[in-house]
Amino acid sequence: MVSMIPAPDPTPRVALVTGGTRGIGAAVSRALRDAGRRVVATYGTNVEQARHFEAETGIRAVAFDVADLEACADALARIAERDGPVTILVNNAGITRDSTIGRMTRAAWDDVIDTNLGGAFNLCHLAMPAMRAQGFGRIVNMASINGQTGQFGQANYAASKAGLQGLTRALALEGARHNITVNTVAPGYIDTAMLETVPPHILTGIIDRIPVGRLGTPEDVARAVTFLTADEAGFITGSTLSVNGGQHMP
Ligand code: NDP
Repeated sequence: MVSMIPAPDPTPRVALVTGGTRGIGAAVSRALRDAGRRVVATYGTNVEQARHFEAETGIRAVAFDVADLEACADALARIAERDGPVTILVNNAGITRDSTIGRMTRAAWDDVIDTNLGGAFNLCHLAMPAMRAQGFGRIVNMASINGQTGQFGQANYAASKAGLQGLTRALALEGARHNITVNTVAPGYIDTAMLETVPPHILTGIIDRIPVGRLGTPEDVARAVTFLTADEAGFITGSTLSVNGGQHMP
């Protein structure tokens, strides 16, 4: 009798999800694992959370600072040795350091640009040659509605996220002939720890402006990433997929 259950892929593609141990990233890690990928999730400093995530999901977590090129190179080399070359890269790690421009320190600017945009540069720079050699690559950069519209008090964050869209388009052209797609997912307001810094009365106002009438879930975003990283998604590149409940329609 012929089984209807597809045989597991003997050589699953290796997916690296930065900031993949909590929030949106953790949902992406789980979704890619469920799609049959061999997932490695990264984190910055929150070891306790990472251990909890590993125990709960069985997904390996590794720590390195995405803003540090040497640390990224070292981590990718270790992953390639242990798991194989990374051919699915989700640049999800991100931070905020909000304040209006007059109060924003140069350090707050640099931290956010170096992590959110510099981190994506580092990993694309390091991973794309291996993807090219494999004849396959899927990159998703996690942008934000606030990079599309701008946001009061978020000059650094909005600039980093808008920058990711430019990076995406340029790399989409560089990857196109090598079966490497590069896309951006732009979440709206998603219910994660990142929103804990938003005062409750402002959050209520935000939800009032979301046409579907609720915050997004990490799983809402993870489904978009899974779609864009599918083997069959090879004709979608250089695009931005907004996941925002209708709040902004570019
Ligand atoms: P969280 O704050 O919940 O998680 C951020 C993750 O990034 C953590 O795993 C953190 O590691 C990791 N990280 C931060 N800095 C570094 C660094 N320098 N090196 C390595 N890892 C780092 O974020 P969310 O899940 O809310 O957001 C995920 C992404 O989605 C971000 O890029 C964010 O900008 C974007 N986004 C989020 C929205 C939202 O409403 N939540 C809306 C739009 C976009 P550790 O745990 O160790 O600190």
